[in-house]
Amino acid sequence: MSKVIVIGKGPAGVSCAIYTARAGIDTTIIGNDIGSLGKAEMIENYYGFAEPISGAELSAKGIAQAERLGVRIISEEVVGMGYDGAFSVKTQSGEYRADSVVIATGSPRKTPKIKGIEEFEGLGVSYCAVCDGFFYRGKSVCVLGSGEYALNEARELIPIAHQVTILTNGEELAGRAPEGVEVIEKLVSELRGGDRLDGVLFKDGSEINADGVFIAYGTAGSADLARKLGVFTEGNKILVNEEMETNIPGLFAAGDCTGGMMQVAKAVYEGARAGMAAIKYLRGGK
Ligand SMILES: Cc1cc2nc3c(=O)[nH]c(=O)nc-3n(C[C@H](O)[C@H](O)[C@H](O)COP(=O)(O)OP(=O)(O)OC[C@H]3O[C@@H](n4cnc5c(N)ncnc54)[C@H](O)[C@@H]3O)c2cc1C
Repeated sequence: MSKVIVIGKGPAGVSCAIYTARAGIDTTIIGNDIGSLGKAEMIENYYGFAEPISGAELSAKGIAQAERLGVRIISEEVVGMGYDGAFSVKTQSGEYRADSVVIATGSPRKTPKIKGIEEFEGLGVSYCAVCDGFFYRGKSVCVLGSGEYALNEARELIPIAHQVTILTNGEELAGRAPEGVEVIEKLVSELRGGDRLDGVLFKDGSEINADGVFIAYGTAGSADLARKLGVFTEGNKILVNEEMETNIPGLFAAGDCTGGMMQVAKAVYEGARAGMAAIKYLRGGK
């Protein structure tokens, strides 16, 4: 068990871990890939670099700095979170536990542009199986997605729903479907219904009935993870105070996932601030 788990190895997560590790706090970062910096060809507005630096190189330098300070770095995708007196962070291959968690998972992933998703939000469209699965007990539900996150959401729904179907929307499923779960790989054209969602239409003109559709596209975004613990969000943004505290004690967020200016300087600042707040929390300063 770590004292603190930081989810995300971008500038916010790594900056946070540098502060907690230097305070002597056992720190683990769990991150999928290098995040936005992997797409940034050159950065020339960050302090201290006289010449432009590639996003990949800046990321590698930050990660090497954290490792030198003793931060454990695990390259895995986080698919779920929980709390039972300690925080649990679930990945494709296991579960990690900590007294405190910092979410630094970058800007929210895009929701697929499928007609009906926004219209039926809260009326059959959900973003969290752990939060809303209970409302669909004995009903037919779909999970929209094809990755490990979608598989995890399907597993959460199996004990509750009568039928679980994964809709990959034209993509290949990332792993083996859980037993009893149907997989439809056809392109989705529309979520349909009246007052509430009641079915899914495919591009080939076929359709199926569904009482609920759980959106689990790509990897779990910051707000997806936060919602599993009842964290207040606004759209896809995690709500924090100026110390980067969420409404859940011991849970912090930093970087692009809190909205505002999406820049390395802001991510590094918020990571540091979240690290300081986590240190205070773990030392009983709250
Ligand atoms: C093309 C481009 C160019 C840019 N140029 C500049 C620039 O010139 N100057 C500048 O200041 N900023 C620039 N930015 C913005 C800058 O890259 C971001 O503001 C910054 O990286 C945000 O840091 P972050 O740590 O909050 O998120 P990110 O850097 O996005 O890191 C997010 C981390 O979370 C991980 N993660 C997400 N979901 C999961 C999950 N479910 N499980 C495990 N890990 C997960 C990711 O793998 C990654 O490690 C640019 C961004 C882009 C896309």
